[in-house]
Amino acid sequence: MSRKIITFDMIKKLRDFSDGKNLFTSFYLSTVPERGDFVERALEMLRKARKEPGNYSEEERNFIEEDLKSIEDFVKNTLVHQVKDPDPYIVKGVAIFSSKQGGIFQVYHLPNPLRERIVIDYSPFIRPLTLLLDEYKRYLVVVVDYKKARFYEMFMGAIVDTGKIVDVNQKARLISPPARLKRKYDYKKAEHFLKVGEVLDILMQAKEIDLVIIGSPDRIKDELYLYLPFRIRQRIAGSFHADPDEKLDSILEKARKVEEEFEREEEKMIVEELKDRLKTGQLAVSGLKDTLDALMHNQVQTLIVESGYEVSGVRCPVCGFLGTDEEICPVCGTKTLKVQDIIDDAIEEAIEQGASVEHVINKDLIRPLGHIGALLRFEGS
Ligand SMILES: [Zn+2]
Repeated sequence: MSRKIITFDMIKKLRDFSDGKNLFTSFYLSTVPERGDFVERALEMLRKARKEPGNYSEEERNFIEEDLKSIEDFVKNTLVHQVKDPDPYIVKGVAIFSSKQGGIFQVYHLPNPLRERIVIDYSPFIRPLTLLLDEYKRYLVVVVDYKKARFYEMFMGAIVDTGKIVDVNQKARLISPPARLKRKYDYKKAEHFLKVGEVLDILMQAKEIDLVIIGSPDRIKDELYLYLPFRIRQRIAGSFHADPDEKLDSILEKARKVEEEFEREEEKMIVEELKDRLKTGQLAVSGLKDTLDALMHNQVQTLIVESGYEVSGVRCPVCGFLGTDEEICPVCGTKTLKVQDIIDDAIEEAIEQGASVEHVINKDLIRPLGHIGALLRFEGS
């Protein structure tokens, strides 16, 4: 599958393309079925963009039209097929950057929809992507047996760097040694596992890994654990049954299942924590109004939101205030603008403030609390 998963390097490269002279059209589109027909919405966004005159030369206007046309063609002819792919885990939206003038057309598939918009400017509009990268956990997957160990980096549901990043392969023959060689065998095994721990340690620091997933034949996992330092054992998200020589696709599929289970368990715990705190009336809010209010007061530590939840609200064009229905901004007195999806704004705001965001996939957990809530750093006044 030739999907591009965004990395910080790609974003840096994209940024390097912009020299302030070439026009870019940046286009964000959600493809989740809950939001209706995405082709229709894309065409509507493109139509509006064509109507905006902007302060451009005739030549520039032609470039813009070519960019809009390329995006339109891509959505109509390619994206519709990609979304049908039985792999909904990755494609929940796209970010497209087109600059006919700069000779660029790039598409990034998103594992979560971002706020839909089209931005025409002399640099690509990449902030939403950087926010998305911040939000995702980086996993290191190690597949290990008595002789070999392979390490993969997994990010946003895909193996990054196309394949193994390190291969530990001890030459020792470790099958079933005769009794007299047993001690040597145990020593080699220990040496191998220690080496695996060492590489894990190095990679976790170098690649800013959050969590580790271990794949191995039976029993080996428990043996390996004994040789891992505590700081690594603490970060193990789970394990699966596999062989180091197994194909990448199969390893990815199993690792993803572990990731999903881990994230689901984590979301359950976070919602439990929210409920407990709400019960005792401490450092928590729920429902849109109170959550936005806490966010506006910089109180949010973890924003907890039902995945895919969308509701309209208002935003102040001057100070960035977010609210549910205030016609006049209570902060600066400006007339507010209606926004179709205030949740996207809230998520971006939370990430910008350095808060974490938990998307709750199991809707039944969070719906009774009003679809959205937050754990707070401190009480409001
Ligand atoms: Zn304001």
